[in-house]
Amino acid sequence: MPTAALSSDLLKIVAVDEPWITADMCSFVMADEKTGELLEVQCPAWNCQANAPIVGNRIGNHQRAKEEFRIMFGPCQWVGTQIVHIVPVLESEPGPLPDGTAYLAVLTGKREPDTPMFRLAVAMREHWARAVEDVTRTRQWNPAHLRRARLLSDSLTDEVAAVLADGPAPKPDAPMSGLRYGDEVSDLARFVVLLAVSEKRGEPLEPIQKMITDQTRLLDRLVTNANAGETRLTGTGAYPTRPKGGDGIGEPTSGQ
Ligand SMILES: [Zn+2]
Repeated sequence: MPTAALSSDLLKIVAVDEPWITADMCSFVMADEKTGELLEVQCPAWNCQANAPIVGNRIGNHQRAKEEFRIMFGPCQWVGTQIVHIVPVLESEPGPLPDGTAYLAVLTGKREPDTPMFRLAVAMREHWARAVEDVTRTRQWNPAHLRRARLLSDSLTDEVAAVLADGPAPKPDAPMSGLRYGDEVSDLARFVVLLAVSEKRGEPLEPIQKMITDQTRLLDRLVTNANAGETRLTGTGAYPTRPKGGDGIGEPTSGQ
């Protein structure tokens, strides 16, 4: 979708002279399964974190959830903030979440990129190859390259919700991972590109080979933890963009 069209649609939703946020900035989001209409989010205020209703695209009235902050004067400062729910377009089918070993096989041409996630990984490798070539020539990073890398990384991270739609879901108390799945795959793709560059230049390969090995293991561990329900990789609730069951946020299949 052209950015201009998206922006003008957004202008119809939000009053731009007032602050607004997107729902994925909240650690819990409940939306109507059919219409995508936002119903409730966890308030993003550090001193609140109550579940707040959404009224007319704004965070509605709620009481601070944290006992120690109820004594604070007045309503939560986030009441009235505009909030927009951007539902990503997802292509993946439910199935096992690829780990670092699987991505490395795809990125080194040993495995076919036969899923949307793998195709995004290949797009990352091709992007980094162009970016590195550009930087070598111009001697400086072009912010547009970093922006494109961010978009690819966001797209891959979004796909996690579709891949894990049938589980395994994170345990209810599982924390959001400090690592973003798409960023870690993007780093692996970049290292694979750098290895090829070093090979071409006849430079020592061991340092980059070690980076590739470490990054592959890191992604393997991230996926193992997600499969055990110990960490969340995207959004929260269960994985709310592909709701299952009647509650609109999916049913955890592991943990209590
Ligand atoms: Zn609040």
